[in-house]
Amino acid sequence: MSDCIFCKIAKHEIQANIIYEDEMLVAFHDLFPQAPLHILIIPKNHYATLNDVPTGEFGILGQMMQTAQQLAKSQGFSEQGFRLVMNCNSDGGQSVYHIHLHLLAGRTLLWPPG
Ligand code: AMP
Repeated sequence: MSDCIFCKIAKHEIQANIIYEDEMLVAFHDLFPQAPLHILIIPKNHYATLNDVPTGEFGILGQMMQTAQQLAKSQGFSEQGFRLVMNCNSDGGQSVYHIHLHLLAGRTLLWPPG
């Protein structure tokens, strides 16, 4: 989508601190990190929310999870632990309407969330 900031990051039209990229997805450091490690993993295709992912395209979500697993390991947080979050719509706290998986690690994260 032309006015989507994460589409622009995926197309390298605006700068981001990209840590991983392949033909299907991009992972980059969050601009306002909420933990010592805070990475966003996004599909290159635009889906505004999780509600908008067609049943036949759920494979991308598995690839996002696999990338999160690999990045948590390569960044040294597999054993300590980490959290994966995908917010959906306003009550879920979504602020950017292009699906993204938050990978958070490096401190003890509280539960339940606020
Ligand atoms: P959410 O609230 O789940 O939609 O998360 C959106 C996330 O995107 C927030 O953690 C923001 O800090 C982050 N964010 C917004 N714009 C950028 C950007 N240009 N580069 C990196 N992270 C961003």
